[in-house]
Amino acid sequence: TMPEALMTVDALRAGYGDMIAVWDMSLQAKPGRVTALVGRNGAGKSTFLNAVAGLLPIRAGTIKLSGEDVTRLPAHQRASHGLALVPEGKRIFRAMTVRENLTIGQFNARHKGSEGQAIIAEMFDRFPALGDRPDALAGSLSGGQQQMLSIAQALSSRPSVLCLDEPSSGLAPVIVDEVFEIVRDLRAEGYAIVLVEQQVEAVLDGLADDVVIIDQGRQVLADEASNVTVDQIIQATLHGVD
Ligand code: ATP
Repeated sequence: TMPEALMTVDALRAGYGDMIAVWDMSLQAKPGRVTALVGRNGAGKSTFLNAVAGLLPIRAGTIKLSGEDVTRLPAHQRASHGLALVPEGKRIFRAMTVRENLTIGQFNARHKGSEGQAIIAEMFDRFPALGDRPDALAGSLSGGQQQMLSIAQALSSRPSVLCLDEPSSGLAPVIVDEVFEIVRDLRAEGYAIVLVEQQVEAVLDGLADDVVIIDQGRQVLADEASNVTVDQIIQATLHGVD
């Protein structure tokens, strides 16, 4: 039997001003599973994740975290209900140290301050390259290390649902493999993961359990990854207007 969803998004609608960028998108995140959200540039993937995280107002639809309706809660309260977002483009604090970034990441965690050092130690264990330079400025790290820091910052809030917006973006292939390996590790640890990813071969090659295809702001396919082919994804995302 399938595990209970930790996050259920139902018929979410979001946009900018008069423009609706995401129409009635539904998606579930389940423990120990990766749901990949794929679609071409401008399809609405980031808009969806940002609206889910509470960074963008929702026009319609509902978001539940562990069964609780959080649709009307602001971003920080969704975080304290177990949701974390690794935004597109490694939005870490470049002028702060690695350790400071991880301390900021604990804000909103459902834990007491005394656990802070333990969380940092755990992140340094998980990401040895960060542990090697705790006092380096985040902006001085390599692109791959910045992405790891961004993921570590999100994990520092002790989420149960982790949303990753194109974590492979702009990274060398060998580093992309490392990022995907981390995603697999987190899945094995039971995190419910929503992954926006352009690399569809990797998505279908053992990275995703479920796939949702979005095109022009609308869901065009949702299925288990084992039922989806690369060709299907390409077909589903090529018929658009540009
Ligand atoms: P990408 O992979 O390029 O990030 P995406 O699938 O994440 O693509 P979105 O960034 O969600 O797509 O964009 C969806 C639509 O919303 C696009 O038409 C885009 O131009 C528009 N859009 C995105 N951000 C804004 C914004 N801040 N203001 C106005 N329109 C926006």
